[in-house]
Amino acid sequence: MRFRLKQPYRLRSWQGLPHVVLDADRLALAPLSAKEFACLELCDGSVDLDLPTIPADVREAAADLACRGLIEPCAPGEGIDPEQAHRSFPNRFVRLIHWSITGRCNYHCRHCLMDAGSKGAVSSVAGGGREPSFAEIEAIADQIAACGIPAVALTGGEPLLRADFAAIAELLSRRGIRIAAISTNGSLVREELLDTLEELGQRPQFVLSFDGVGHHDWLRGVPGAEAAAEHAIRLLDRRGFRTVATLTAHSGNMDSIVETALALSSWGARELDVSLMCDEGRWVEDEAGREYRSLSAAELAEALIAAIPAYFEAGLARGRLPLERLRLGPMLTVDAARPKDFRITVEYPPGRPASYPLMRRERLEPYLSVEGRLMPSMVLAGTEFAEALGEQPFPLLSETPLRACLADSTFLEYVGVSAEDYLHENPGCAACPHFPKCLGGSRVNAILHDPTHPLAPDPLTCELFRDGWVEKARAAATEASRRFVGGK
Ligand code: SF4
Repeated sequence: MRFRLKQPYRLRSWQGLPHVVLDADRLALAPLSAKEFACLELCDGSVDLDLPTIPADVREAAADLACRGLIEPCAPGEGIDPEQAHRSFPNRFVRLIHWSITGRCNYHCRHCLMDAGSKGAVSSVAGGGREPSFAEIEAIADQIAACGIPAVALTGGEPLLRADFAAIAELLSRRGIRIAAISTNGSLVREELLDTLEELGQRPQFVLSFDGVGHHDWLRGVPGAEAAAEHAIRLLDRRGFRTVATLTAHSGNMDSIVETALALSSWGARELDVSLMCDEGRWVEDEAGREYRSLSAAELAEALIAAIPAYFEAGLARGRLPLERLRLGPMLTVDAARPKDFRITVEYPPGRPASYPLMRRERLEPYLSVEGRLMPSMVLAGTEFAEALGEQPFPLLSETPLRACLADSTFLEYVGVSAEDYLHENPGCAACPHFPKCLGGSRVNAILHDPTHPLAPDPLTCELFRDGWVEKARAAATEASRRFVGGK
């Protein structure tokens, strides 16, 4: 019998991961034994596994792989797509790169990290106002493909402002790179753009900023921004593109979260992700004379916890929570399909080993700045930290090829810090009862707070645990789930 690897699987090897299958839809890896891997190399439709020359253990492995849904029987001549065949890359695996393809913007958001939309730039690393040429984009895309990175999330500035956006989407598609997401303010989402993406076989999710019903225009600095966002979300929904809305919380819009969630849901958004205003970039530069301000940890926690019962109650009225997923910053993440399985966002699941990498997500999904610098997170591009890196900056792709950045570099050293490294620097946390679920909090938050101490405790997370906000959020969600979801 002949077998072939099913779609969307790809047979791959990366540094430290010699035998894996990549699920190109979910961007997830399934580990394989050496025997399973050897068997999969024969599952391209060209080899009859019943031949007497095929060892019995290979046939047994094929039976197991078929049970796992990785392979399927096929007729002679029914091969695999060339993309699925085994490829080996000498660098570490990266699932996706968040890539700023422009520092330009048509909005003037009051909290822009990179001061996009202005002539100057808050940070030279952030790259506000600048834009790589098409040739530079093409060269970087070649490097991304050569490292076996299956996907990118395009961001800016406003990425759709590029006149050559369709050509960029086309060059990525030609290299087999999936556009997993496009971060946009929504003002330039048009039918023609969606036609182009569809023709290329790309179906990214749109990450669309929306900062509260009645508040969006103020934060975005453009009258009509709210109406444009609504129009874009409705269009994306009608065309079958998924929208994840992001709301940046400040003192002015915190009371509108539930109203905003309901409005977004009625327009067709699937998720809302509430995050805390970051005291960086233009938000800090333009502080004078502004009517709203950032929230303290306690104010944020109180407001988010207050939104929990109202959101669940709104869900009851509809028979289902309004959005597929709501993430109330550090306090709560709840899925409409499983509201009783809510989780407190800031908590790590217990039982993480000492070697657990604290920047796992940043290692798997790093950020590439406008100037082509590989960094753990976009949020850091606007900080003193990025500018103060000076003698040992994160690598620039024009100087260090991406393959080398992902094999041995300051970037890898940085994102490789473990829970053990953290405790070595902060022995006091070892005695804290919250440590197993806190692990010192977010490394990115800690760096934003004190760029000179990347392994210091994250003060926001520490306060949420030690002042009881985590337990208050859990109690509010448990009670809301009991009252409003019941046996559903
Ligand atoms: S809550 Fe604070 S003291 Fe406790 S482990 Fe976390 S960072 Fe350390």
